[in-house]
Amino acid sequence: MSLSVNGRTKVFGIFGWPVEHTFSPMMHNSAFNSLGLDCIYVPFPVSPDLLGKAVEGIRSLGLSGVNVTIPHKSNVINYLDEVSPEARLIGAVNTVTNKDGILTGYNTDAMGFVKSLKLDGGTDPAGKRVMILGAGGAARAVSIQLALSGIKTITIASPVAEEINSLSETITGSLNISVNGINWVKENISSCLEGTDILINATPVGMHPNTNVMPPVEVGLLPEHAMVCDLIYNPGETLLLSKAAELGLKTLNGIGMLLYQGAIAFELWTGIEPPIEIMRDALKRALTR
Ligand code: NAP
Repeated sequence: MSLSVNGRTKVFGIFGWPVEHTFSPMMHNSAFNSLGLDCIYVPFPVSPDLLGKAVEGIRSLGLSGVNVTIPHKSNVINYLDEVSPEARLIGAVNTVTNKDGILTGYNTDAMGFVKSLKLDGGTDPAGKRVMILGAGGAARAVSIQLALSGIKTITIASPVAEEINSLSETITGSLNISVNGINWVKENISSCLEGTDILINATPVGMHPNTNVMPPVEVGLLPEHAMVCDLIYNPGETLLLSKAAELGLKTLNGIGMLLYQGAIAFELWTGIEPPIEIMRDALKRALTR
């Protein structure tokens, strides 16, 4: 069923710069249509210097909620009324609700990864020893949410010492988790693999179009029960994941994280259980276009 826009239609959207490549409109509009909701989701190209005015526009135009993507995820916090404790720790917001003019920020990227790990990957992170590759925005969100989900230890491997230090400080300062920061060198990474239950690539290494490269990980050194995750969703199977699968290890790509961040945002905005399989199909169609 396709709905027409009218005077009562609720408007949702995404603020990004650029925003042309977003998959969120396809996911959310499919969900609205399938449930017969009088809602629409549109992309808003918002340049960094106009972010404050755009956020004020959520109130003045009566938008019902928005997603926020690169490069606004950190700066948007300055313009919101409230921020969830998790998003505050992460330092980034990707979803804003508008309840009677009160704008509240959440980080559903981080929640989306943990949900995908549990539902698609069949793995509960509680008590697990995690290694994360990268210490940028996505690594920060995922590490902090995993720490909040009760993991035992986390090893952070990155070429950027300042990012490792900042992430380690946040985790050890607020949560009782042991953090090990290591330099981006194959030998250092190798020496920690045996004690890893969940390995997560949170760098763009292996992402389209550079699909023939992978992080410096000797996957054969991981224990047999290990789960290998890649936050990359294009391609659906990175070189890292294909090497892990060849060895019989469990693998998880980034499509579930993308799906569940949208599904959690949908529920925050509408209070309605999201039609997951409709959203998953819309995302798959968008990704293969
Ligand atoms: P980011 O903030 O730019 O961080 C990327 C991190 O990877 C940085 O620490 C960066 O170090 C490091 N890095 C980049 N190239 C590297 C290389 N060749 N070798 C070693 N380290 C390298 O990016 P992000 O937003 O966190 O995104 C990271 C990945 O997650 C991307 O592939 C993105 O597509 C994916 N992601 C997926 C989802 C999802 O929903 N599935 C959501 C968000 C992100 P430098 O600072 O030195 O470059």
